[in-house]
This record gives sequence, C-alpha cells and structure tokens, in this order.
Amino acid sequence: DPAEDVNPNEDPDYFLDSSVMEKESPEGKRMMEFRKSLPAFKEKERLLQAIARNQVIVISGETGCGKTTQLPQYILESEIETGRGAFCSIICTQPRRISAMAVADRVSAERGEPLGETVGYKVRLEGMKGKNTHLLFCTSGILLRRLLSDRNLNGITHVFVDEIHERGMNEDFLLIVLKDLLLRRPDLRLILMSATLNAELFSNYFGGAPKIHIPGFTFPVRTHFLEDVLEFTGYKLTSYNQIDDYGQDKMWKTQKQLAPRKRKNQITSLVEDALNKSTFENYSSRTRDSLACWMPDCIGFNLIEAVLCHICRKERPGAVLVFMTGWEDISCLRDQLKAHPLLGDPNRVLLLTCHGSMATSEQRLIFEKPPPNIRKIVLATNMAEASITINDIVFVVDCGKAKETTYDALNNTPCLLPSWISQASARQRRGRAGRVQPGECYHLYPRCVYEAFSEYQLPELLRTPLNSLCLQIKSLQVESIGEFLSSALQAPEPLAVQNAVDFLKMIGALDENENLTNLGKFLSMLPVDPKLGKMLIMGAIFRCFDPVLTIVSGLSVRDPFLLPQDKKDLAGTAKSRFSAKDYSDHMALVRAYEGWKDAEREGSAYEYCWRNFLSAQTLQAIHSLRKQFNFILREAGLLDSDVGSNNKLSHNQSLVRAVICSGLFPGIASVVHRETSMSFKTMDDGQVLLYTNSVNARYQTIPYPWLVFGEKVKVNTVFIRDSTGVSDSIIMLFGGALSRGVQAGHLKMLQGYVDFFMDSSLAECYLKLKEELDRLTQK
Ligand code: ADP
Ligand code: MG
Repeated sequence: DPAEDVNPNEDPDYFLDSSVMEKESPEGKRMMEFRKSLPAFKEKERLLQAIARNQVIVISGETGCGKTTQLPQYILESEIETGRGAFCSIICTQPRRISAMAVADRVSAERGEPLGETVGYKVRLEGMKGKNTHLLFCTSGILLRRLLSDRNLNGITHVFVDEIHERGMNEDFLLIVLKDLLLRRPDLRLILMSATLNAELFSNYFGGAPKIHIPGFTFPVRTHFLEDVLEFTGYKLTSYNQIDDYGQDKMWKTQKQLAPRKRKNQITSLVEDALNKSTFENYSSRTRDSLACWMPDCIGFNLIEAVLCHICRKERPGAVLVFMTGWEDISCLRDQLKAHPLLGDPNRVLLLTCHGSMATSEQRLIFEKPPPNIRKIVLATNMAEASITINDIVFVVDCGKAKETTYDALNNTPCLLPSWISQASARQRRGRAGRVQPGECYHLYPRCVYEAFSEYQLPELLRTPLNSLCLQIKSLQVESIGEFLSSALQAPEPLAVQNAVDFLKMIGALDENENLTNLGKFLSMLPVDPKLGKMLIMGAIFRCFDPVLTIVSGLSVRDPFLLPQDKKDLAGTAKSRFSAKDYSDHMALVRAYEGWKDAEREGSAYEYCWRNFLSAQTLQAIHSLRKQFNFILREAGLLDSDVGSNNKLSHNQSLVRAVICSGLFPGIASVVHRETSMSFKTMDDGQVLLYTNSVNARYQTIPYPWLVFGEKVKVNTVFIRDSTGVSDSIIMLFGGALSRGVQAGHLKMLQGYVDFFMDSSLAECYLKLKEELDRLTQK
C-alpha cells in the first residue's frame, strides 16, 4: 500500500538538517573522514550534475567505492542544502533483503540518526521507516510490489537500481517497467549502479544514457590457484581413478566451452593427483551423485580447512572470507571447523557466517573488528561478492562455485546445481581481499579451469521458472505477458513463458483468456510463491489455518531439520520421530514447530533443538513469518477474529492433507510398490527419488497411492524434497479439478465427486469451500 511507503509531501515543514551528525564530535569527525576517503567522494559534483541533467544515468565502480551508501546520500544532502529536502524522496533497491537492511543501518549511522528517521528500509514483511523517511532502501521486489498499486510512483523523485550487473530477475523486470514509466514521469530520475564495467548494455537499453565510472582504489591481490595451494598447504592427495572420467565429463559438459586438448590433459593429471579416495568415500552416495563436477566438493572441506590453518598459522593478521555454495555447506563446514583444535578455539578464531537468512544481530558482527589476536573467519555465500563489503578482509578463499538455479523449460523443472561461477564473479571475489591493504586470494581450482569459465553469468530471467513473475506482470494490467517480456534486456524463451501461463491458469490465478481472476489478484498481493499463497487461503477457508500457516511459512523460509554430514542417520531418525504414521514431511514440520513452542514455554528450547537436529534460528524465522502472514490474511478479511473458529478443523488430518494437496498440485507422484521396494512417478511419467531426509524415504511401504510435493529438483537425478501421502479422493477433489472447476463453474460436477467418494468430512468441507469461495469472489 502506497501510504505505507515514503510520503515526502506529508510534512513539508519538517526541517531536515543535512548534518544531523555533530560534526565536531570525535565520532562525527571519524565518520566524515571515512566518507571523504571513499573514491565516490571525488566524483560527487560530477555525479550530482549528471543526475540533474539526465533522466537516466549508469554508474559503475568497484565494489566498496561508495556507490550504495554514498550516492543516494549525496542526493539527499544536496536536496536538503538547496531547501528541497522535504520534497525529495529517494528509493534505492537492493537484490537481497539483508543488504537493504545492512545498508540502511549504515547510512543512518553515518548521518548520526536512528534508523527509520530520514533513512529507512523496507523488505518483505519487515521495515523501519517513518513519515520523515526520505531515503528508503528496499528490495527490488518491494519496489515492484509498490508499482502494482502506484503505477506512476507518485511523489518519488529518484530511483536507484543497484547491483544491476547481477542481472537478477527482479532487476530486469524493474527496468522494463521503469523504462515505460520514465515516459510518463519526465521529472523522475533513474540511476543504475553496477559493480562491473559492462555499463554499455544498460546504457543502450535506455537510449544511450550517459555512463560514469568511479575509478576505484584497491590494493593488489596476490592470486593463488589450486596448483599453488596444494603445494604450500602440503595437502596430500592421492589418486582415485574411478572418479576422473565421471568428473571430467560433467565438468566439460557444464562448461560447454571446449578447452584445448592440452588443457584437458593438464586437468586430467591434476584430478588424478587431487582426489583423495578416503575423503571421497566419506560422502554419502547422494552427495556423490549430486556432485556436478569434481571440485571442490570432492576434495571437500578438508582442503578448505587446510587453507584456513595455513592462513592462521603462517600469515599476517587480517580477516578471512570463504565463498561457499549455500547454507547447507556453510553450516556443515562450520561444524567441522568448530571441532578443530586451532580453528575451533574461540580464543584464537572468531567464526562467523554470512548468508541470506541470517539474523540481524549476526549481521552486525560481520562488520565489527574482532578483539586483538583473534582472527575473523567469515563463511559466506556469493552474497558477500558484491552487495556487502567487509572492510578488514585480507584473505579470500574461493571455491569457485555458486548454487545456481537453472531452469529446464523443456521439462519444466528447476535445477539446483552448484555450478562454476563466471570469470566476472571470480574477479569480484578476488577483489574482496584488497580493500584495506594488499591481500591474498586462494582459488581452489586450477588456473586452466578459471580460464574456461564463462565471462558473465546468464541473467536470472533466463534461468528460473516465471510463475510469480508472470502473475505480477498480469497485475500491472499488462495485456500480453509474452509481448511485455520481449522488451526485456534479454527476453526469456517463449516456452518458459507458456509454462508459467499454463501453471497460473491451472491454479486458477488466470482465466482462459489470461485475465487475472479474483484469486489471482489476491495471490499477487501475497509476498509468497503463488502456490503457497493458495495453500494459505485454502487453510483459512477450510478452518485448519494453524497447521497450514506453519507449513507455508516453513516452505518459504527453509527446512528447519538439519542434516549434518557425519550424522545423517541420527538426524533422519530424529526427524522421523515427528512423523508417527503421517507419511508427511509437512506434518512433521508442524509437530516439530509445535514441540518447539512448548519447549520454549518450558525454557528448554535449546535442548529440544539439539536433541532433534532442529535449527533454532530457522524455527524463529518461521515463527515470525507465521505472525506476518497471519496479519496479512486477517487484514484481507479471510480470517475470523475468533482464533478458535479458524482452527475448528485443524485436527482433521485428511483435511490438512487435502489443503496441502490443493496448494502443491500438480506436484504429485504416484507410489508404485514392487515386491521389496517402492518407486515414484510424476504426472509426466518421470521417475523421481525421495530426498534422503524425507520421512517417507524411511518407510518400506506407504499406504497412500500418491505423494504430493512442493519441489522437484534436478541434481543429476530428479529428487523430490518434502512430500505428503494423499488418497485418490483428495487428488480428485483438491487437485487440479477443484482449481479449474471453481474457475470454470464446474462446481456441480465436483459435488458429484463428493457424493461418489462419500468421505463425509471432506464433502462437508467441500461444500463449505463453495460457500466461502463465492463470498471471496464477490468481494
Ligand atoms: P559499493 O556500493 O560501491 O560497493 P558501499 O557504499 O556499500 O560500496 O560501501 C562503501 C564503504 O562503506 C565500504 O568501504 C564499506 O566497507 C563501508 N560500509 C558499508 N556498510 C558498512 C557497515 N554496515 N559497517 C561498516 N562499514 C560499512
Ligand atoms: Mg553496493
């Protein structure tokens, strides 16, 4: 809602002082000195002039040069100085929520104000801003959402779109919308910021907008590739012959770029030397299967550990930043390092993690200087590549991979593979080491592999399913989604667009003519994947809201069940205790969450999590997301003020299953029983496997003909993650037929099904649904 966002004209008398910070105070002086030392400061006047004279400009500059924290601030200060402060309203988007929060926090500290005064932030379901907020950092998703209800961005004077070099889906989407908006709002200023030099592309997209480069200062970074690392760590690797063909093959397929024969031979011998049989055999077969390439996963954490030891023992002081692929790897490595005599000693090493869903308190720690003689080691995802700058980093350890979603439009399957990063990313990672003094970067792959990396990463728009995006495009009152997307910087394949449109039709968000239905309108307002949004609404309508709320929150945060590498079996057993005879990962989640709430009340939450291999942090995140979804649905009038009545049917297991199915359909697989084993087949006849940690993977037989699942992921083989067993009647009533039926007015026919199956509790619920949906459609 627009009223909630920055509203500059509300209080014109508000006196904005450009120097809230007491310039004379030591703290203020230090901050001013720091700000003036940034490369962006020298360009301040040039930048301000360019922004004043041009509607669009493209700014590039090395990460850490002061783009994000300084440029919006320069505008703010200059507007205040010229007496227009009260009328300016600046929005600066970030690709990730955590950077929006961290940057807003930093900028308000630089101004010497509390967060939420002149400078604020807003991210999904959370924000800190007030009526005097004139500079708002938000995620690109938030700005898109605002554009839905406020197509002209009334009152906004400047829009910064940051980190455009990453080519995130939301950023590419924003640029299409903003390009159109600039025609209607000639006074609006658009500033695009990028960490790399490929500004040309963006400048051309906006009809040759001026480009400004901020020359950076960085210290030289000495680069070591795997060859060197193996030598000076003395890490002993023996050959392991069986892997090399497999690894080689995959590596070259992924790379798609055929390197000269010579290079290949070079790698072959290196792989033979590098792979340590015993290390490799420690991995479970699943991990082994999921290894797309032979490094660094196969060599694994031991090499990283060896490099870290080397740094701690032999190198000068300075913090270390380790780039890993994802949260799972990070937490496993952290556990391993904690057990190490040197790296796990809190008197010598401060071990921190940096990833998309970390808590705010943990966030601040990353920027803080550690006590003397303690070395800070930060394990990070590629989030620390560009949007967050940690100043005291001197050493970078780069695994060369990032978990990247790719999208296979032909099979309509998202694939999640740790894949090699681009050369641009590798450079970016290396640059992190030279912020304050000369640094060192350890790339854990051979130089020849680096040379075979692609130059830039493929834009996200071309490698993800477009379901949510197409729904949002539709809510911008766009006629043809395909036509709209064809004006993107790089347009996605028509097949990918068609798949998304088909999906939205099937869940009932679009009608036959691709127009938004009422359900679609509502789903576009929920800050969650459309199918989870639908599950939430169904939970409310069917009066089993509480468990569904937990499931949806869990699915949109992440799995709270931990799976430590070395204790997979124990963890699996712990999880299966929550499943009883439910045959459902989703219900296991509900029980685990409820158990945690109870334990919390008794003050034993810590032991509870420890005993059950649960992440307290994730449970906490699920808890707060639950509260926020609850609020939104209540505001929308979908919930009764009486909690009891929303949960009248929560105890009805088959109903909860049905609601899960209504959200996850068409994610269903049939259970095929053989004499001693089971196999699973999806609708398109594809064979799928269950994820190791699924409760259903532990049963010999499953007394349900179907499993519904949220996610199908291709990791060499196709896996399904969380699943729930459901009956035929549930599939009939709550699967596709219901969604389509409701939209096309097939209710009568469906009532026939109800009679047919005579599952009285479901039938009753079904009738209730009809009544409620009628009410919803009339709104
Ligand atoms: P850019 O956007 O060009 O990458 P930033 O504006 O984010 O650069 O950062 C400029 C400088 O401010 C960097 O040196 C960075 O380390 C410092 N900085 C940014 N955020 C914080 C923070 N939360 N705490 C301390 N220093 C910060
Ligand atoms: Mg930045």
